[in-house]
Amino acid sequence: MADEVKLDISPMYEGERIRKEDLWIEMGGPKTDGFELSLSAPMDEIQDGKVTVIGPEPSEIKPGSTIAFGMIFKAGGDKIEKDLESIIERRNHALLSYVSGLMHLNQRYDIWMRMGNNLQKKGVTKWEQIFKPIIELYKAEMPFIEKLEVTIITDPAKVKEELAKALDIYITRDARAKGLHDEEVDVFYGCTLCQAFAPTSACVVSPDRPSLCGAITWFDGRAAAKVDPEGPQFAITKGEATDLVTGEYVSINEMAEKRSGGEYNVMKLYTFFDAPHTSCGCFETIGFYMPEVDGIGIADRDFKGPAPNGIPFSTMAGQTGGGKQIVGFLGMGVLYYFSPKFLQADGGWNRIVWMSKALKERVKAGIPEEMYPKIATEDDAKDIDSLKKFLLKVNHPVVNGVVRPVDGQKVTEGWKLEEVTDDIKEKVIAFIEESGGDIDVAAVNEKLGLTEGQFMQVIEVLQDEGVLE
Ligand code: SF4
Repeated sequence: MADEVKLDISPMYEGERIRKEDLWIEMGGPKTDGFELSLSAPMDEIQDGKVTVIGPEPSEIKPGSTIAFGMIFKAGGDKIEKDLESIIERRNHALLSYVSGLMHLNQRYDIWMRMGNNLQKKGVTKWEQIFKPIIELYKAEMPFIEKLEVTIITDPAKVKEELAKALDIYITRDARAKGLHDEEVDVFYGCTLCQAFAPTSACVVSPDRPSLCGAITWFDGRAAAKVDPEGPQFAITKGEATDLVTGEYVSINEMAEKRSGGEYNVMKLYTFFDAPHTSCGCFETIGFYMPEVDGIGIADRDFKGPAPNGIPFSTMAGQTGGGKQIVGFLGMGVLYYFSPKFLQADGGWNRIVWMSKALKERVKAGIPEEMYPKIATEDDAKDIDSLKKFLLKVNHPVVNGVVRPVDGQKVTEGWKLEEVTDDIKEKVIAFIEESGGDIDVAAVNEKLGLTEGQFMQVIEVLQDEGVLE
């Protein structure tokens, strides 16, 4: 093996960021391909401790470069079952970050890693100098892993090829989770793996409210809690619901209070607004409320431009993360968009007004058919004004008030004018004169840019003033 290098490995380095000025090599991230995959395998198919490298070693990479990167762990052990694959995979986030000079962000197809100059100064030239100690760390932290080997891929074409296969595996894992619902289970699972980065964060993983990182399904939580009940994934007996529409459970509130150190004591599963789920920072997508239209937009990590609220994903991520309940922003996993309980307390899909195009396409099967054309993308709306025009044109539910499908309750009032100005009054009078009193809602929308409700608001003012009868 390559010369051994003494790495500094400790949980105290978890959460360490590697800034540009300290960067040696960047792996994956927004500019290139990157993925991580953990698979279970029979014991006799694993060569314990082996590190296979396909592509350039660190010493062959120009310092400061960003490279395509893939890592595939193969784990074996008597207690290892398929459902544990995601749990082992997700532990990368913590364990790789224990190495001083190694940063790991995000998950699955989205990983973003950096090695700092300090690793180069220590004499690291080969991947095995980092990943052999990581294999040992894994086996110490997850004793049910008896054998572990890893393949590191830095050849860009091979990363692409293996990434395509990994995407199929993630889809298969998620498909299994889609078939189960909250009513059908007695236990949810909690996860506090991300508390190193977001100390008050406490995730709940239920069949209908999958993890915001997208890496852990209910089945994964179950497998992890079974094999390591004292670990970061643990069972929450479901018990009594305080409110089935918002997804408020006594047991979840108790868990939230305990695990957040008293920071909050209510956490509801299916709402954006009142005591929503915490967001740690690993979320696959961000939902953001736009008061101007009383609707919710959603952007994914690959969306680069500013959303209609004028803020790019990266800035919103900074505001959303940290393990807090931030009303107005919410981190959500892609799988949640296929849930029948998706934001059901707030109107579900009837409340979604904008999505980044790639995300909308990706979750198309989860969006009700009638809502699909009513949700704008960056092609339809780049700012609030163009979004308003689009929503008016397609008669989006937010325009006249959202009725939530779960119980038929109206949860928003529809757009109202804050002030009926003289200018609006004049335009409405001219419109009525022009139309000869024959009022058509589509023409009100198109010519005046007003909803039916807003138009009636102006009429009432004109009537009060005696201008109209
Ligand atoms: S985001 Fe939540 S569910 Fe995912 S690993 Fe972190 S704490 Fe666990």
